[in-house]
Amino acid sequence: MQSLIDNARMFGQRPETFAKLAGGQWPEVLFITCSDSRVVPALITGAAPGELFELRTAGNIVPAYAPAAPTGEAATVEYAVQVLGVQHIVVCGHSHCGAVGAVVRHDDLSAAPAVRSWLAHAADEPRCSDKADPTVAEAVQHHVLTQLERLRAYPCVQRRLEAGQLRLHGWYYEVHTGTVLAHRAHSDTFETL
Ligand code: ZN
Repeated sequence: MQSLIDNARMFGQRPETFAKLAGGQWPEVLFITCSDSRVVPALITGAAPGELFELRTAGNIVPAYAPAAPTGEAATVEYAVQVLGVQHIVVCGHSHCGAVGAVVRHDDLSAAPAVRSWLAHAADEPRCSDKADPTVAEAVQHHVLTQLERLRAYPCVQRRLEAGQLRLHGWYYEVHTGTVLAHRAHSDTFETL
């Protein structure tokens, strides 16, 4: 923790770098990924402050659209799409994902009841033919596509897609290599960018 505090103390010593950010934000991309500490969107993409609007959840889950049950996730998606007018949404799953792994392996989550409830409420069980695979690659990739389907059901997303003002992207990030794969619609496979 101390090194993080030291860096934070030093960070604000370049006010000229940040002054222009007071004028507002115009991010092109909503980047949805897992809370996992090994996934660092700005590092992966090289994004500068103001370029990525981020939503991070356990297992990069996008809850099904349900206006009667407000969620922070839905609010974040709507704000990004409707207010900020992002032109792209990336859902980025990652290898060795604890949340997706717990779902496919049916892990005992009684010690983490909030996690258990979140996954039971929000996650569909993804396809997984090899539950012993520590990367859970197949399950994570299938899971990413499920989240994209859910996004398509959000009215604001639907409107922008129909207007040709928004594109959705499914990514899979390997935490052990740094490689990013993207879903290709024509082949329905994940391939290197
Ligand atoms: Zn994860």
